[in-house]
Amino acid sequence: MISQPFEYSRPGTLAEALELLSGGSTKPLAGGMSLIPMMKLRLAAPEHLIDLSRIPGLDAISEGGGSIRIGALATHYGIESSALIRAKCPLLAETAGRIGDVQVRNSGTIGGSVAHADPSSDYAAALLALDATVHIAGRRGNRSLPYAEFLVDTFTTLLEPGELVEAIEIPAENPSTGSSYQKMVQPASGFAIVGVAARVARIAGKITFARIGITGLGSKAFRAVNVEALLLAGNAAAAAAAAGDGIEANSDLHASSHYRSQMVKVYCARAISTALSRAA
Ligand SMILES: Cc1cc2nc3c(=O)[nH]c(=O)nc-3n(C[C@H](O)[C@H](O)[C@H](O)COP(=O)(O)OP(=O)(O)OC[C@H]3O[C@@H](n4cnc5c(N)ncnc54)[C@H](O)[C@@H]3O)c2cc1C
Repeated sequence: MISQPFEYSRPGTLAEALELLSGGSTKPLAGGMSLIPMMKLRLAAPEHLIDLSRIPGLDAISEGGGSIRIGALATHYGIESSALIRAKCPLLAETAGRIGDVQVRNSGTIGGSVAHADPSSDYAAALLALDATVHIAGRRGNRSLPYAEFLVDTFTTLLEPGELVEAIEIPAENPSTGSSYQKMVQPASGFAIVGVAARVARIAGKITFARIGITGLGSKAFRAVNVEALLLAGNAAAAAAAAGDGIEANSDLHASSHYRSQMVKVYCARAISTALSRAA
């Protein structure tokens, strides 16, 4: 299907983009990997697209003050291949490398993925496990929110109309922490049927830190605090088996809710054991 007609603008600065976004039925366009298919299917019909792709510096990846800042326009491939992210935030690089296919990774952006809030987004699991912060720019000022608060539900975030995701910030990884992203792939699209991001640290055999983010299972990605608590209590054997407890699992033509809620335990076990094997 062909999308409805729309106006197109390509601002050269963030301020200009925010000015254009303050008009009526506008939408920012980043990689177009989610928005353009939605427009073609007439699930979205913005009257005016504001293309962010030529705003200088919006794809920058930098380090400062003990954290890594990733500009909203950084592509999945840019994140996967960044030497800085591979060294200081390996979980995000690993996750980016598991998204979709080469074309999607070359065009899709972290800002677009975070704003779109697909319930199977791979980044969502990793950003929860990484205690990420979302930096938001708006005409009335900027604000920052923990990603766990920013993500509200399926395709829903705390982003207000006219606001843009400007960057994602992640604390630089402690070198003794091990991490892993494990995903059951839906082969046609590459999306996660379930995906689990794990970060763990242990001292003298005892787990001292645990973060588990799960995507694809329910209406939004979530932190599995019950699994984390069991890991910290030294009950690693029971931890993965508790993944998904209390969550109403999605059911669709790719996987029933029962299948998803069993598979999340399997992928959680794999993520934990791989993360533990990588922890110094
Ligand atoms: C075939 C296929 C396979 C895929 N497989 C996967 C997968 O395995 N895992 C996965 O996680 N994702 C997958 N995706 C989605 C992909 O990661 C998209 O790139 C991503 O969801 C959206 O990023 P984008 O830059 O393309 O955003 P766009 O499509 O340009 O925009 C998406 C939405 O975000 C808004 N937006 C964009 N940028 C900003 C911003 N900076 N601030 C505020 N709002 C903004 C847009 O207005 C729109 O509403 C797949 C997509 C396709 C087409």
